[in-house]
Amino acid sequence: MTTKNKTTSIKTTSMLRCALALLLAVTPGLGAGRAQAAINVVATVPELAEITRQVGGRNVSVYSIARPNRDYHRVDALPSDVQRVARAKLIVAGGMDLELWMTALLNAAANRNLNRGGSGYVDASQGIRRLEIPTSQITGASGDIHVEGNPHYWYDPIYGKFIARNVLRGLLRVDPAHAAEYRANYLRFNAEIDRRMTGWKAQLAPYAGRPVVTYHKNYAYFLRRFGLREYGNLEPKPGIPPSAGHVSALISSMKRDGVRAVVVESIYPTRWANLIQRQAGIKYVVAPYSVGALGTRDYFSFMDLMVSRFKQALSR
Ligand SMILES: [Zn+2]
Repeated sequence: MTTKNKTTSIKTTSMLRCALALLLAVTPGLGAGRAQAAINVVATVPELAEITRQVGGRNVSVYSIARPNRDYHRVDALPSDVQRVARAKLIVAGGMDLELWMTALLNAAANRNLNRGGSGYVDASQGIRRLEIPTSQITGASGDIHVEGNPHYWYDPIYGKFIARNVLRGLLRVDPAHAAEYRANYLRFNAEIDRRMTGWKAQLAPYAGRPVVTYHKNYAYFLRRFGLREYGNLEPKPGIPPSAGHVSALISSMKRDGVRAVVVESIYPTRWANLIQRQAGIKYVVAPYSVGALGTRDYFSFMDLMVSRFKQALSR
C-alpha cells in the first residue's frame, strides 16, 4: 500500500466510525452506555418543560403539550400528542385543576406508568402552599375555573425550585442510572435561582405592599413572593371574560384608592386595559405569560422579564 492509499484508507475508516457512532446515538436499542438515547418526557406546559430540561440535561428529550403563549386552561391535544404520551417515560403535570384536558389525553395514550400515582407521573405542585382554595362549592355554572385553588404557582421562582425537586424525584424513579447527573443539574438550577433572586427582590423591594391589577389571577404567587398586593383583576372571576360593568367599577375603585399599576398577561386582549388607560390615564404593561413569550428563552429570562415589567408598571 502506498502512503497515499494508506492515508485514504485511514480517512475512510474514521468516516465509517463517525457514521456508526451517529447511528448508535440516534437508534434506541443499539449500542449501550454513551450511545443510549435520551428518555422521552412530556410536560403539560412550557414552564414545566423548561425546568425539566434544566434538571434532565442531555439525558432527556422534553416536549410541552401546551404551546407557548396560549391559554393553558384550554388546550386541544392533537393525535401526535397522544402518541408522544404513549411513548413517554415521564409526564410532568402542573396538577390542581389547570389541566382538565389531560385526563382524556392520558386515557387515549393508555400508558399505565404515566397515570396519576404511577412511577412516570410527576405532580409538579407537590409541596407548594396553595393559594385561593375556594371555601364554598364551585359549580360549572359559576364559571370559575380555579376549583382546587390557584394553579399558577410557577410564576414564583421559589416554587420553581419545588418543581425542580419534584422533577428530580421523577427522573430518579424512571432513570436511576443518571442519578448523579440529575442531582448535579438540580443543584445548579437551585443555585442560579438563589443567585438571581437577590437581584429580583432588590428591583421590587421599593414597591412593597403596592397594589397591582392583572387580567387573570396568573401572578398571585409572584405577587405574594415579592411582597406586592393583588388589588383586582380585569376578569370578574377566573375564566369569566371582563364585562363593561365590572371594568368600570374597577376603574372607579382604582381612582378612589390611587391604584396605578396594571399588568396584562401576554395572551390576553388589551382592549379593557386600553379602556382603563383612556378613563383613568393609567398606562398598562404587558408581562410574559409563558417561557417563549415576548422573546424569553428559558425560565430565568422569563422571570427576569416578569420582574422588570412589574417594576415598570409600579414605577408609574
Ligand atoms: Zn388560571
